[in-house]
Amino acid sequence: MIIQRVVLNSRPGKNGVPVAENFRLEQSTIADTVQAGQVRVKTLYLSVDPYMRCRMNEDTGSDYLQPWQLSEVADGGGIGVVEESKHHNLAKGDFVTSFTWPWQTVAILDGDLLQKLVPQLVDGRLSYFLGAAGITGLTALLGVREKGHVAAGANQTMVVSGAAGACGSLAGQIGRLEGCSRVVGIAGTDEKCSILVQEMGFDAAINYKKGDVAKQLRELCPGGVDVYFDNVGGDISDTVISQMNQNSHIILCGQISQYNKDVPYPPPLPPDTEKIQKERNITRERFLVLNYMDKQEASVLQLCQWIQEGKLKVRETVVEGLANIGAAFQSMMNGGNIGKQIVLVSK
Ligand code: NAP
Repeated sequence: MIIQRVVLNSRPGKNGVPVAENFRLEQSTIADTVQAGQVRVKTLYLSVDPYMRCRMNEDTGSDYLQPWQLSEVADGGGIGVVEESKHHNLAKGDFVTSFTWPWQTVAILDGDLLQKLVPQLVDGRLSYFLGAAGITGLTALLGVREKGHVAAGANQTMVVSGAAGACGSLAGQIGRLEGCSRVVGIAGTDEKCSILVQEMGFDAAINYKKGDVAKQLRELCPGGVDVYFDNVGGDISDTVISQMNQNSHIILCGQISQYNKDVPYPPPLPPDTEKIQKERNITRERFLVLNYMDKQEASVLQLCQWIQEGKLKVRETVVEGLANIGAAFQSMMNGGNIGKQIVLVSK
C-alpha cells in the first residue's frame, strides 16, 4: 500500500534553530497484509512538542529520548482509527493513541503498544487526548500537584512562563482550581496575554517582548511569588526567581528558551539567581511527567471532568496536512501557537 510519510531530512545542529526544511515529505509503502497482533491504522492527529527539538540532535542529551535518524520516519504522540485488526482487544473503528506514532498517513502497528481511547470523555474532541486530556494536561496537573505545594486557602501567588502554550495555559488554570489566589502569566504577544486573562481566568498577563518584565511583575505580584511554573528558563526565569518568596517552589517543567543551545538539562542557574534560590530555600526539583504514569488514569479522568464542566478552557492551534508538520513545529518553537499545537492528518 502506498502511503505518505515525513522523515528527518537534516539536523539543525545542537546550537541551530530548527526549520521546516529539517523535515521531508515522501511517498513510501507498507505491507498489504496485517500480521497476528497487529492493526492497520489511519492517522488522524499528530502532536508536535518542544521536546522533539532534542530528538533532532544526534545525541538527545537524555536517557529517555531516542534521537530521530536521518531519512527515517519521525514519530511522537498520535491518534488514529483502526482500519483492520488482528489484535484480540482492538476492532475496526476503534480510536487509539501512542507516544511513538509514526509521522505517516497509514501505518501497521503492534496492537499491544496502543491505548484505546473513549471519545465520550472529551465530547468527541479526539485531539484533546494529545493535549488537555493527554500528556500535556497530565504535565500541567501533576507538575502542580507534585512540585507546586499549592494549598487551598494559603493565599499563594502563582506565575507561569510560556503561559499561552499547551502546558502553561492549563497549568495556570489548574493552579487556580487547586487553590492559588492569584495567577499571573508571561507570554510573547498581546493577543496571548488577552486570551489568558479574558478566556482562561488568569488575573493578569505580561508580554515579555514589551516593557520591563521585572517592574510589571512587581506590580502584579505585590506579595511576591510563591509558586513558579517554569516552561522557558533563561532571563524570564531569572527575573521571576528574583521575586520569589522564602520557602517558595519552582515547578521545573521545561526550559524552551535553552533548547537550541548545547547545555545540559536542566541548565544550571546563573550564580546570582542560584544564590537567591539557595538563600530563600526555593525548591527547584526536576519534574518529568513520565515518572508519574501510575497516576495517569485518575488524572486524565480529573482533566476530562474539568473540561466537561467548563472549568478548564482549552485552546488548540490546528495545522492541516502531514506535509505541513515541519512548518507547524517551526512555528511552535517560535511562539506561533496558542495552546496545543496539533497537526490534522486526516478527517
Ligand atoms: P508550548 O508552550 O505549547 O510551545 C512553546 C511556547 O514557548 C511557544 O509558543 C512560545 O510562546 C514559548 N517560547 C518559545 N521560545 C521561547 C523563548 N526563547 N522564551 C520564552 N518563551 C518561548 O509547549 P508545551 O508543550 O506547552 O511545553 C512547554 C514546556 O514544557 C517545554 O519546555 C516542554 O519541553 C516542557 N514539557 C515538559 C514535560 C515534563 O514532563 N517535564 C512534559 C511536556 C512538556 P511565546 O509566544 O510565549 O514565546
